[in-house]
Amino acid sequence: MGKKITSILIANRGEIALRVIRACRELGIKSIAVYSDEDVRAVHVKRADEAYHIGPAAPAQSYLNMAKIVETAKAAGADAIHPGYGFLSENENFPELCDKNGMIFIGPTAKAMDLTGDKMKCKAVMKKAKVPTVPGSDGIVSDVEKAADIAHEAGYPVLLKSAFGGGGRGIRLANDEKQLRQEFEMASAESKAAFGKSALFVEKYLQRIRHIEFQLIRDSHGNGRHLFERECSVQRRHQKLIEMSPSPVVDQKTRERIGEIAVRAAAAVDYLNAGTAEFLRDPEGNFYFIEINSRLQVEHPVTELVTGLDLVKLQVAVAQGEEIPFKQEDLKMNGCAIECRVNAEDPFYDFAPSVGPVPYCNIPYGPGVRVDTYLYPGCTVSGFYDSLVAKLLTWGRNFDEARVRMRNALDEFVIEGINTTIPLYKTIMDEKNFIKGELSTDYLERFKVFDRMNEESKKEAEEKASAAVAAALLHSELVKKGAPAKSSGWKQARVNL
Ligand code: ADP
Ligand code: ADP
Ligand code: MG
Repeated sequence: MGKKITSILIANRGEIALRVIRACRELGIKSIAVYSDEDVRAVHVKRADEAYHIGPAAPAQSYLNMAKIVETAKAAGADAIHPGYGFLSENENFPELCDKNGMIFIGPTAKAMDLTGDKMKCKAVMKKAKVPTVPGSDGIVSDVEKAADIAHEAGYPVLLKSAFGGGGRGIRLANDEKQLRQEFEMASAESKAAFGKSALFVEKYLQRIRHIEFQLIRDSHGNGRHLFERECSVQRRHQKLIEMSPSPVVDQKTRERIGEIAVRAAAAVDYLNAGTAEFLRDPEGNFYFIEINSRLQVEHPVTELVTGLDLVKLQVAVAQGEEIPFKQEDLKMNGCAIECRVNAEDPFYDFAPSVGPVPYCNIPYGPGVRVDTYLYPGCTVSGFYDSLVAKLLTWGRNFDEARVRMRNALDEFVIEGINTTIPLYKTIMDEKNFIKGELSTDYLERFKVFDRMNEESKKEAEEKASAAVAAALLHSELVKKGAPAKSSGWKQARVNL
């Protein structure tokens, strides 16, 4: 048994900071928030037991300022630090610095993080552990000639991937050698700019694939479990938009087989705490490991809804040296959960960021609805941080119940002042291929979902306009008949009739 945690500093903001605060409340643990100038009025600051200002709005000077955060944690007497996702969560220097300062880092060890953060090193370990990986280069490809040789052998199309990439960035497609030669320099420059290192590797570009990942938890006693799969194939530019569990194409036998491989993958890097093993599945049903995300995943509530487990509470238990309190065979999946990532981006204008004040919002609720968000009427969405403003989840006894609940919840979800991805999700929930579970990472292009969304919005605008004309006509008729001129709007006019 390790040290019992009595206070946690949360090195993050937004919905994930609130998520961790809630777990702390339930566990009777003191929650300590940090915030930048931009977040003075943010909810995570209000909800935490204590909150400390750590610097200006720019992430580099606040939420990425490791020294300042650890210093704040020490001054506040925190036993542990929870990094959330994004920001410092996958920086292997962070657990090390926590350790040096006598604080528990709620996540993997620096060593495991270092290994999983380098996709190439990780892939090599996986190959050795007989975990199937995507064909491609066996290591970093230092020059374009080597890249061309490997691509020739693997067969086009191929992807050039940054070894340290994340969040769907640092991935470029090459359909032929000419394109590969064009993209190579740009891909390394991009990787250098975004991740500090230009290291690239080559991977065969798999087509019509699904992204299916397994939630993992592993304790300091060597026990590892998987908490089943999440299907995250609805993506835009390699970034997840919708996640669900179970996957429509994973049966119990496959779940057990790939789940066992995922647990083996975690053991191969001596993983600790919660993580995710990501796989691609081709149309023939083959699975290929792509990476381990060494943190709590954005979409972890999907798993919470189908397993009934609280992943943050499990993280705390494991971080204080406890053994995972269940065996693999104790776990059962119950029903189906879907998550839509509500981003402050305009789906009608190429996902342009949309930030600013939100004068009003209506958060949906009701049976089987969960919303993780930092929004409140009168809040402001900042342009400095991640565009995710809410995660809307629904649970149902089966996919269709969850889907219909999602469709209704999306109708109830109102966010004024900014544009969000909600209209896109409404279209998807009604789209016949989505309903059939016919998913792939190119789902949006393959089924022309944006065209559909545009048509629907045009129709809606026309309907609204003709309703407004009808209301105006009715109103003028009423005025002519001598009804009080003040009664504006058709609803009121109908009452008066
Ligand atoms: P998940 O599967 O948890 O959604 P993502 O890859 O989408 O994983 O990343 C989770 C969050 O972390 C996102 O908000 C994303 O913007 C952020 N993120 C991921 N990788 C990086 C990175 N290398 N640098 C900065 N932010 C990142
Ligand atoms: P990140 O670290 O940015 O999350 P991943 O390696 O996990 O990068 O890949 C993100 C997404 O990119 C996948 O979900 C998938 O849609 C696509 N992708 C990655 N590798 C391949 C591949 N070899 N073939 C086809 N698509 C891929
Ligand atoms: Mg990934």
